[in-house]
Amino acid sequence: MSDAEGLIDRVNILLVDDRPGNLLSLSGILERPDYTLMTATSGDEALARVLQDDFALILLDVAMPGMDGFEVASIIKQRERFRTIPIIFVTASVHHIEWIFKAYSVGAVDFLPKPLDPHAVRAKVAVFVELYRQKQQLKDHAARLQEFERREREREVARVRDESERRYRHLEEAIPHIVWTADAEGRIRSFNDRWFEITAIREEDALDSAWRAAVHPADVVNLAVEWDRAIGAGREFQIELRLRAADGSYRWYVNRALPETDANGRVLRWIGTLTDIDEQKHAHEELQAAIRLREDFISVASHELRTPLSALTLQLQHLDRLLKKTQGEVVTETLAKRIGSAVRNADRLALLVGSLLDVSQIARGKLELHFEELDLAALTREVAERFHYEAAQSGSSIAISASRPVSGRWDRLRIEQVIGNLLSNALKYGPGKPIAIAVDENDGVATLSVEDEGIGIEPDKLQRIFECFERGVSVQNYGGLGLGLYIVRQIVRALGGAVAVESEVGVGSRFVVSIPLRPNERHELRLFANREGEGLNRPAGS
Ligand code: ADP
Repeated sequence: MSDAEGLIDRVNILLVDDRPGNLLSLSGILERPDYTLMTATSGDEALARVLQDDFALILLDVAMPGMDGFEVASIIKQRERFRTIPIIFVTASVHHIEWIFKAYSVGAVDFLPKPLDPHAVRAKVAVFVELYRQKQQLKDHAARLQEFERREREREVARVRDESERRYRHLEEAIPHIVWTADAEGRIRSFNDRWFEITAIREEDALDSAWRAAVHPADVVNLAVEWDRAIGAGREFQIELRLRAADGSYRWYVNRALPETDANGRVLRWIGTLTDIDEQKHAHEELQAAIRLREDFISVASHELRTPLSALTLQLQHLDRLLKKTQGEVVTETLAKRIGSAVRNADRLALLVGSLLDVSQIARGKLELHFEELDLAALTREVAERFHYEAAQSGSSIAISASRPVSGRWDRLRIEQVIGNLLSNALKYGPGKPIAIAVDENDGVATLSVEDEGIGIEPDKLQRIFECFERGVSVQNYGGLGLGLYIVRQIVRALGGAVAVESEVGVGSRFVVSIPLRPNERHELRLFANREGEGLNRPAGS
């Protein structure tokens, strides 16, 4: 159907008859401005016409030489496209019922008997033409409706896209970060306003790689390398870099981008952010500096304290010896006691200073170990003996269970320190309570356990107490720096071993140290690779 108004209702009607006279009279009857009448004088010609044009109706003479009306009708009806064209048979007479069936079976919709009654012909044709028009109108409506719906859908999609684009833009401008996008190849495509506010580089300049001008020269290469790597891998990208602000000052940013991919994982574009981390970065640096300062202070202080302390200890020991020699002379008991107490205080001070020095050595990775053959059982007895006076003072007994020698290659002073620290804790946190020490050996591993019946340790503190300066008690109740267990663990680890604790508040604690008898080279290497950053040297001399 033509789109032009006025022609919209014009329809084609095909008249088929082998006699031109009949065609002429039929055309005369049907002549109307809104009908285009086409004629064919044979079945073949009729078929050719049907292929060329659209027809609202076919008036088909039945009795034609060659191909009769039935044959023409059945061929037309075989084609899907033409199946709905109504066919009216024009015939001299409707003979009998079989003839009618046959006519219907090949697709006839009606009959017009000859001689033709012009009124009847016009009326019938008008009915089918009207039907055809209505059908066409319906088709037309359906097509328009479809078109309307398609446009509506398109409009809706565009609206949703605009809306999400608008929201994205809004978000981009609302967040206090620089937001940028790049295409799949990594070329920068956009920046939000924050970029301009910070760098004063206009977007159009920045897009053309000039944005690198804002990056600190020392960070440019790293940025390029990492960005290329991220594009190649199509994976998240993150680096820290310095950006130059409009006033020429630089600040640290973390530059982070994620690829946006399609359903097949193909990168469509990148969305990135630049977040100002300048303050965190400086805070971190300050913290590091403060830690370094603390370590330096501990190191200097412990060294400085050690010299006069050693002199004082020597003098006190000298005095103590003199005192013991002056048997004949009168020495007050009080003076002897005072000197004894001064010696012990100097010893305690020396121990504390020693601990501080150890911590500073550990922090600098300078804890040195000197290996020699030792018997852990004998060494334990020896160290326990040194606590004899302290134990007697507090009323604690020390029982040692070590039925056989446990020989291994360790650092004597460090092992003494481990035993001493555990034992002095047992005395400190369980005054007047018995202490049981056991030394044993199993499968090449020596174990030393120190068990007390003291105050115990709360479960949530069990792990923390092995950290530097960590304490589980208040300084008002128990003095101490929180270094003893830290040093124990560092020494034990350096020897390839481990220390564990089990404890119950109000019942007591048990510390168990396990160390291989002969820490071999491979074992130590693995240990130190695992504990990177703890600042311990590989044990020397093993
Ligand atoms: P300090 O004794 O100087 O505090 P340590 O590193 O030796 O430092 O011990 C850390 C913490 O572990 C102590 O403050 C204490 O709370 C707890 N602790 C250590 N040994 C014992 C023990 N035998 N019984 C109860 N608590 C202990």
